[in-house]
Amino acid sequence: MNSITFLGTGGGRFVLLSQRRYSGGLWLYLESTIILDPGPGALIRALQFKKDPKKLDAILVSHRHLDHYNDAELMVEAMTYGMKKDRGYLVINKDALGYISDYHKKSVRLIIPNAGEKFRINDLEILAIPTYRHEDGIGFKFFSKRGTITYTSDTGYSEELLDYYRDSRILILNTIFPASKEIETHLNTKTAAMIVKEVKPELAIIQHFGMSMLNASPEREAKWMENETGVRTIAARDGMTIDLKNLMESKEEGQLKLDEF
Ligand SMILES: [Zn+2]
Repeated sequence: MNSITFLGTGGGRFVLLSQRRYSGGLWLYLESTIILDPGPGALIRALQFKKDPKKLDAILVSHRHLDHYNDAELMVEAMTYGMKKDRGYLVINKDALGYISDYHKKSVRLIIPNAGEKFRINDLEILAIPTYRHEDGIGFKFFSKRGTITYTSDTGYSEELLDYYRDSRILILNTIFPASKEIETHLNTKTAAMIVKEVKPELAIIQHFGMSMLNASPEREAKWMENETGVRTIAARDGMTIDLKNLMESKEEGQLKLDEF
């Protein structure tokens, strides 16, 4: 099954430190097995949601913030069977590379893409896409057999990014703030809606929620976006899996009770 599982939907320092939402990143089965932005707790959450880190083909890190790279070395150890076997890819933004030890780098194949560059993990083609006003990070566009999935990563809103988001079946937007909080370095619900309205994915998913977003209710914000854009929009929950065949949500074994915040 080609699928996306949210090992964490929290973002920003205070949610990270309180773990009001988890911060494990995303687990993707898209022909290849990938963990995307393994923040603190990625290994624990992977195991909790019955994912096998030894089966990873690649670890992707979008930028140098702790909530995106913290468990990258740990996942390298898991992917390489405890550093016993050279295997897998570490795809990492150039500024985040400095946080990875030489010891961990030597057991993986390193890919350090610039925004606009394509690379492959086995049969899966991926485009590194730019971000706006956020640490020169990169987002990712996955050209899977079940359709194109785009992950904005943390970014501000810029019209120039819209073309990179187009033609996506699923658009995953790191929407840290509710509509009421304006900020240039991140998306809020309002700017996320501006993107969705323009690029019209089949499904929009908001995630990476900060404290003010959790207090405002991500579900309510997603509903507002859906009304505003006419595009089905959901607020991700910890442990949620999306089956790409029919874009349905399915439950994971080992899933904890959701929405306890
Ligand atoms: Zn972040």
